[in-house]
Formats: sequence, structure tokens, C-alpha cells
Amino acid sequence: MTATVIDGKKIAHALRERLKQEVAELAAHHVQPGLAVILVGEDPASHSYVRGKEKACESLGIYSKVYRLPASVSEAELLHTIHELNESSLIHGILVQLPLPSHISESSILLAISPDKDVDGFHLMNVGKLQTGLPTFLPCTPHGVIQLLQYENIPIEGKHAVIVGRSNIVGKPLAALLLQHNATVTICHSKTVHLKNFTKQADILIAAVGKLRMITADMVKSGAAVIDVGINRVNGRLVGDVDFEEVRHVASAITPVPGGVGPMTIAMLLYNTVEAAKRLES
Ligand code: NDP
Repeated sequence: MTATVIDGKKIAHALRERLKQEVAELAAHHVQPGLAVILVGEDPASHSYVRGKEKACESLGIYSKVYRLPASVSEAELLHTIHELNESSLIHGILVQLPLPSHISESSILLAISPDKDVDGFHLMNVGKLQTGLPTFLPCTPHGVIQLLQYENIPIEGKHAVIVGRSNIVGKPLAALLLQHNATVTICHSKTVHLKNFTKQADILIAAVGKLRMITADMVKSGAAVIDVGINRVNGRLVGDVDFEEVRHVASAITPVPGGVGPMTIAMLLYNTVEAAKRLES
């Protein structure tokens, strides 16, 4: 068997074209969606993600403003910036690029963002809404994964989805979304004993760990759909958590890294920003 390679770039492009249309329609009503991104410190990966987000906004006609703050910024200063952005009529979405320096409480910062502008979906109010099935901003990477599966017509209902990784930004919200779509969900993590026993059962296997090629062909059920969220940097190249070259001969569908989940994460951020503008301006 050779798996279909899921082209996240193409799917993200289609979504962005649709959003471009919506941005143009909003412009006709004198509304321009606006995204503020707060970036603290000098982490090169974070800087590169933020540049990607800035460029994506520009290509759609979304206003974006990046606040590049030194690692020494105090929590109070950061909170002040967020309060100003909460009040700004130009800004509909606020994103704080994680991770933050250790002297700043991530949870205090995320809680300070107005839930109506929380385009990452990390505010506790929105986390609670997701868990209870109420409409809210869906976290971008998990939402992107669902979009990929739907675009490829990979059934979710009744299927066994196994997620490796239980972070608040990927594993847990993805589990909630897959449950909403009626999958049977198993979440694995670093303390899971005999990981392979679980991954082998998956109709849909999602790797969100950050460990180079840790999902090998012998861990995958024949015909499974394999979604690789992981990003690992090897000599300047991006490599996933899945051993792509081996697993593609076992799976029925697989996402590459790069070009799989990554482009969808940005597309869903743009989607949430447009949604925020529509809600706040209606
Ligand atoms: P975290 O480090 O927050 O979480 C990693 C998870 O993997 C934890 O739940 C951890 O378990 C689990 N884990 C670690 N080692 C093992 C192991 N040996 N076996 C099973 N589980 C293990 O990472 P994130 O969720 O933030 O990100 C995961 C990956 O996805 C990273 O590579 C990141 O760069 C990438 N990413 C990609 C995005 C994209 O757009 N493509 C967006 C966001 C993230 P425990 O909880 O027990 O510690």
C-alpha cells in the first residue's frame, strides 16, 4: 500500500482563497479584520512563525500589527499592552506567541485577553466552551487537523482516533474536537505504557509530541490515516514525529512535514480572525 499524501498547502490555499473573498465582502461594509500578535524575546522559531502569520494576513488584506517586546518585559507591561488591545477598535484578534519567558505567568496573560478576541482559543472561558460543545474560537492546529480529515473525506464518526501528546494547545483540544465528531478517542502521553499497543489500534493516528520520527511503521495499523503535527528541526530542515518514508507504505493517508498540518494552523488563525471581526462588528 502507498498512502495518499495529504497536501496541507493546497487545502490551506483553498481555505485562504475563500477567506480572501470574505475579507473583500467585509471591506465593502468598511470593516477590515485586524490581528495583533505579541512576541516576547528572541526565540528564532517564534520569530519565524510570527513572520509567517504577518505575511499571511497581508496576503488576505487583514490588518496586522506585531508587538516585538524584549525578553525583559515585565508581566505588568505585557498586561497593559493586552488591555489596550482589548479596547482597540482596529483589532479583532489578539495572539500571544508562546512560550513566554519564565518570569511571566502564561495563564495570567492568556486570561487577560478578551475571550471575544481570543483567536488562539486558549482563554479558559473558550477552553470550557470547547469542552462543553458551545460555539467558540477553535484552537488553530486541532481545527486544522479536523479540516484536513474532512477535506480528504476521511471518516471520523465511529472511528478510533489515537492522539499521542496531551498538551493544552494540541492534544487535549484535538481530543475534544474529535469527540464532538463522534470518534472514539484515546490520548497517549509520556507515561503511557506500551504505546504501540494503542497506536496500532488507531484508524486515525495523530502524533503531536516533538520527537523526531518516533512513530515507526510497526506502530501503525494497515490502512490508518496518519496526521503528523510534530515539528523537529534537523540541520535547518523540518522533520515530523512520523517516520514518513516507512509509514507511507502502511497508512492509507499521511501528512508530510513540512506541508501538512503547518499551513493549516495559519489558515485557521486567519479564519478565526475573520470570524472575530464578523462577530464584533455585527
Ligand atoms: P508539548 O511539549 O507541550 O507536548 C508534547 C506531548 O508529547 C506531551 O503530552 C508529552 O507527554 C508527550 N510525549 C513526550 N514524549 C513522549 C513519548 N515518548 N511517548 C508519548 N508521548 C510523549 O508539545 P506541543 O503539543 O506544543 O507540540 C507537539 C509537537 O507539535 C511539537 O513538535 C510542536 O513543535 C508541534 N506543533 C506543530 C504545530 C503545527 O502547526 N504543525 C503547532 C503546534 C505544535 P507528557 O504530557 O506526559 O509530558
